[in-house]
This record gives sequence, C-alpha cells and structure tokens, in this order.
Amino acid sequence: MLELSDCTLRIDNYAISQWLTCRRKFWFRIIDGLVPNTPNGTARGFGASIHEALRVWYDPATCATDDKERFALTCNAFYAEWAKTGVEDAMRNTKVAESVLRQYCAKWSLEWFDPIHVEVGFAMPLTSDIIYEGRMDLIARDRASDKLIVVDHKTSARKPGSVMQEIKARQMSGYVWAAQQLSDVGVLCNSAIYNYVIITTQPQYERILTTRTREQLAEWVDATIRIVNEIRVANTFEDCYCNQEMCNMYSRCDYLELCNCPNGSRAALIAHKFTRKPWSAFEQGLIFSEEK
Ligand code: SF4
Repeated sequence: MLELSDCTLRIDNYAISQWLTCRRKFWFRIIDGLVPNTPNGTARGFGASIHEALRVWYDPATCATDDKERFALTCNAFYAEWAKTGVEDAMRNTKVAESVLRQYCAKWSLEWFDPIHVEVGFAMPLTSDIIYEGRMDLIARDRASDKLIVVDHKTSARKPGSVMQEIKARQMSGYVWAAQQLSDVGVLCNSAIYNYVIITTQPQYERILTTRTREQLAEWVDATIRIVNEIRVANTFEDCYCNQEMCNMYSRCDYLELCNCPNGSRAALIAHKFTRKPWSAFEQGLIFSEEK
C-alpha cells in the first residue's frame, strides 16, 4: 500500500504518529485503508469548522478586507463547514463558535507576522526513496526579522498531554524542515507557532513559539529515516503489535471494537462499520515556493 512501483515510500506525520502510538492502528488505517463509518462527531466537527474559519481569517485575500468584512467571512467559513458535519450540543454550537471566533479575532487582531500562504501542501524527497509529505496551515513572515514562520492551528477541548506533545513536536520539525526546502535557501525559516484554541466553558487562546536549529532538524531527518526503515522491515512480516495503552488515551480508539472482535467475525464487522479508503499522505494543496 505504501510502496510505489519504484519502491519510493511516501509518508507523513499522521502515518508516523499512528505507527508510534499503535502498530495495529497503523495497520488498520494506513495499510488496510479502513475508515470508520461514524460521521465526524460533534467535537471533531466543531474543531474542524473552527479550523476552517481560521484558514479564512488568515487568507491574505481576507486580510485585505476591512475588520467587519474579515470577521463576517471568517464566520461564514465556520457556518459552511459546520453545516456539513455539525451536530449541535450545549458546548458546541453556532453561538459558542461565534463567541470563540470573536474572542480569538479580538485577541490576535494585531499580529506581528504577515500571512503569506494558507494550506500549504508539500511533498519533499527526504532521501532518494522516501518522500515526506504534509500540509501546513499557514506560512507567515515575521515583520521584525523577515524570516518565515510556520503556524499550525490546534483546536481541542484540552491541552495536549506529553505523548501528543511529542507527536506534535515531531510534526513541527517536519514542517520547519519542509518550509526550509520550499524556501530554497535553508535559512529563512527556523521557527513555528502552535496556535492553540482550547474550547472549554472558558476558551483559551495560547501561542507557543518553538524554534529548530540545523542540528535539531538533522536529528529529525535521521529519526524519520529510522522510523521509515522500521516500518519497511515490519511490513515484510506484518508486525502489528497492539499498544493497548493507547486504546483510551485522550479518546476512544476508532478501532477498539474491531480489535476486540474475534477473527471469524472481523470481515462482517468491517463490511458493516468501515469503508475502505486507501490512505494517501497528501491529496491536495498549494505547492509553495519562496523567491530567494
Ligand atoms: S484499540 Fe488499542 S490496540 Fe486496537 S488499534 Fe486501537 S489503540 Fe491499537
């Protein structure tokens, strides 16, 4: 599933995080292409809709409008996405979203960076036979230093725990590395921002600025190559070790019922509750290039 005919392996942080959290999960989603038929639940749908609103808020075309128009376009993006996925409840509904977005836009109305591109897709050769892919939420330029910054929006109901922090740190290293490759100069981007929107009864809006040195990025490249090689080896003998510590970590694993299902009933459960959708690291996106 992962291999192209020339043995090039395309990988992204999502696949790597599945591998590192539970090999069985990696197998179900990445190799077997199993996607649960459950609709995008309220929490996920709400987060995705706020995320879409932020995409529009930072779109340079939206930034060029006046404040009122910019906020209206941002809310409209939320409504359109929420209409597709949303199931309202007391915590997640249109009123809450408007309040969250109003507070967010007021708090961050005066940024120290200028948005350049939103939803930046990339597919970069990591080695001669590994392509690393992904999509950055925003590339912006720091007005003071003129350097590029990667911004990643994180919408969730709580701050991430240590396992998720590690996964996100890995993701950010990949983004900074990719932004350097895309910028074609290797020095214009060395930092990234986690842009948290924590949606609780008292929403929080936090930024964490993180930087990467050349040495740290070189370590990330080495570690990623090692993980990909592990995956390649495991692929040959179908290693799908269950890491049961992750079954209910943060939220219930989508594959719990399938994992607990006796072998003889598994095919029927898959037919009833899953769709096969081949995993693709990168489906669409704007390929970004930065002038020297
Ligand atoms: S239910 Fe647990 S063991 Fe099974 S795939 Fe999910 S995390 Fe892995």
